[in-house]
Amino acid sequence: MFKKTIITSGPTLEPIDPVRFISNRSSGKTGYHLATEARNRGIGEIVFISGPTCFLPDGVHIVKVETAREMYDAVNEHFDQCAVTIMAAAVSDYRSAEYHPQKMKKDHDTLILELAKNPDILSELGRRKRPGQILVGFAAESEDIFVNAEKKLVSKNLDLLVLNEISARNPAFGCEENQVYFLRSAGINKIEKTSKAAIAALVWDEIFALFHDPASGQRNR
Ligand code: C5P
Repeated sequence: MFKKTIITSGPTLEPIDPVRFISNRSSGKTGYHLATEARNRGIGEIVFISGPTCFLPDGVHIVKVETAREMYDAVNEHFDQCAVTIMAAAVSDYRSAEYHPQKMKKDHDTLILELAKNPDILSELGRRKRPGQILVGFAAESEDIFVNAEKKLVSKNLDLLVLNEISARNPAFGCEENQVYFLRSAGINKIEKTSKAAIAALVWDEIFALFHDPASGQRNR
C-alpha cells in the first residue's frame, strides 16, 4: 500500500573506548511490534533500522546500526522514498566527544567525560518532510509530560507523537505492556495500559486514519 516505510528501533550505542559505551534501556520491543504489524498488514517494503537489540522481525529489510550517526545516515538513505517514517528508536542524545582507541585506565578517583550532542534525526526529517509524507515520533517524559510532548509535536513537525510517561507505575522500557498517549494536532488520546503489540496495531490504525483523512490531524480545539 505504501511504497516504503522506515521504522527505527532499539537504543543507539555510543562507544567511549573499545570496551565501554553510552546507551539506554530501550529493548527494541516497540519497534519490533510496529514492524511485525506493518508486515502483517502487507503495506509494502519495510526498512527496519535498528540499534543493538535481539528483537529483529522477519520479512523486513533489516539495517543494523550502532551509533546515532550511523542511524542518521541509514535513515537519510531511504527517507525521500518513504510515505511513512516511524522513529521508535531511543537515540542517544549525546556521545563521548572523544573516542579513546585504547581501553581507558582507572588511574584517578574521578573521571570527567566530555559529551558531544548527536544529530536530532527526527527534527531534521520534520524540516525535510514533503506533503504526503507521514512522520511519527516517540517521546519518553518523566515530568510536565504533556507540555514537553506538545512542544515536540510542533517543533519536530510530527503527524503523530506516541508519549510514554516514565514513572514507577509505568516503567515502559523493557516491559511487555505500556500505557501511552497519542498526540496529534487534533488533540490527545489516552491509550489504557495494554501490550506493546496492541499499541503497535493502534499506531497503524492512526496512520491509516491520517492517510484517509489528513484533515483529522488539524487542531480542532
Ligand atoms: O527529543 P526526544 O529525544 O525526546 O525525542 C524523541 C524522538 O526523537 C524519538 O522519536 C526519537 O527516535 C527521536 N530522536 C532522534 N534523534 C535524536 C534524539 C531523538 O531522532 N538525537
